[in-house]
Amino acid sequence: MGRPKRDASAAEKQRAYRARLAAETVRVNRRAWAALEARRDRVAEAVWAARQAGCATAAQIVGASPDTVLEALSAWFEAHAAGSCACAAPVPPAATGAQRGRRQ
Ligand SMILES: [Zn+2]
Repeated sequence: MGRPKRDASAAEKQRAYRARLAAETVRVNRRAWAALEARRDRVAEAVWAARQAGCATAAQIVGASPDTVLEALSAWFEAHAAGSCACAAPVPPAATGAQRGRRQ
């Protein structure tokens, strides 16, 4: 029995393929994409550096790649937003310094 043939000709198959491709993809500016990746990498490197420096919070953010670090960060904050947060201590002003310890 089997599925009925969806595309009658090679031209129709090609047209259907292009339509699927157009629906599933998006064009991205290379510079904007590179900047986004650089921001992602910076977050991951900051987490790894903080863990190396002994930060107890960073030690809970486990990820072997920048993408898995972002996923772990999301999961960590989602858990804290959901009420399993034990970090009641206020953040010291020095910890928010954006220019401090920036790596290239
Ligand atoms: Zn918390």
